[in-house]
Amino acid sequence: MRPIAILGAGLAGLSAAQALTAAGREIRLFDKGRAAGGRLATRRIEHAGQTHRFDHGAQYLRAERPGFAALLEAAGTLPWPDARRRVAAPGMSALGRHMAAGLNLSSQRHVTALHAAEGGWMVAHLDAGLVRPGRPLPEVAPERDGPFDAVLVTFPAEQAIPLLPAHMAGPLGAIEYAPCWTVLAGFDARLDLPDTLRYHGPIGWAARDSAKPGRDAGQENWVIQAGPEFSREHLESPPETVVAALLAGLPAPTPLFAVAHRWRFSLLEVALGQPCLWDGALRLGYASDGCLAGRAESAWESGQALALKVLAA
Ligand SMILES: Cc1cc2nc3c(=O)[nH]c(=O)nc-3n(C[C@H](O)[C@H](O)[C@H](O)COP(=O)(O)OP(=O)(O)OC[C@H]3O[C@@H](n4cnc5c(N)ncnc54)[C@H](O)[C@@H]3O)c2cc1C
Repeated sequence: MRPIAILGAGLAGLSAAQALTAAGREIRLFDKGRAAGGRLATRRIEHAGQTHRFDHGAQYLRAERPGFAALLEAAGTLPWPDARRRVAAPGMSALGRHMAAGLNLSSQRHVTALHAAEGGWMVAHLDAGLVRPGRPLPEVAPERDGPFDAVLVTFPAEQAIPLLPAHMAGPLGAIEYAPCWTVLAGFDARLDLPDTLRYHGPIGWAARDSAKPGRDAGQENWVIQAGPEFSREHLESPPETVVAALLAGLPAPTPLFAVAHRWRFSLLEVALGQPCLWDGALRLGYASDGCLAGRAESAWESGQALALKVLAA
């Protein structure tokens, strides 16, 4: 049987890939990022000869499904900030690494189109380094791989819509995410604050990232997430403005360094309302956190549901 292409190596794509591989199917993952994990991400910042790591996407994981709980156990995640929530160590990206081990992943490939061909689907993709967010695609001939027996698209809805036929793209148009500006800041001394804080102003959530298990406890690293209103209002503001506004909301001295990261797709505001989409005739599917709920576990569940549809078809 021909392999299955899975586009996107976030939790949804990795979950589908693991389930299909376990069932004996050959898969190939494509992702525009440097590594697997998607929004379960860890960023390194070098400062004064030291490496500081920050979980700039998902902060912690909660498992309600036994399958997801088993995955978190197998990946060596640890409780933080309480027994109900867990984090991967030494950073959240470790979960993606764990799941991608042994899978056939082509990273730094930006998928631009799908083409129906003799014997299956062809996937067109470009070197992700050539693609600038918000700009038209460069006029470079993409590489093509295939034919694939089926294609599973697992990008956030807005990024998936251009690849899918109208009857699948239409329902995905209902999915909505709030953006999230996130500031990563390192301080030279411990702040007199608890490890996690929830606010109701420009800041939505702030956490002492260096307090998570498996991090460098000698550092004082903070992740400060803006709330959805501030993030929308300042979507196109320069990062320096965002850094200044969010730091002003935290009772803290001037940091050693601070940078801002803009997530266009963060908190899910409107879900598709079904675990996945699958067109058995076209052999084309869609999974992501946008299907059910904006949590890592929901992305995983969506990937599992789509894999089951493919295997049943
Ligand atoms: C700031 C923030 C905080 C969060 N906090 C939490 C939390 O504390 N707990 C929690 O459970 N969840 C949290 N979440 C949500 C959680 O991260 C997501 O629900 C989950 O990671 C989504 O997984 P996914 O596979 O659906 O999508 P993604 O992780 O977005 O994966 C999609 C993948 O597709 C790739 N891709 C996109 N377009 C293309 C293209 N054209 N070509 C190739 N590849 C492409 C991307 O690179 C990405 O790797 C948070 C998210 C954000 C942004």
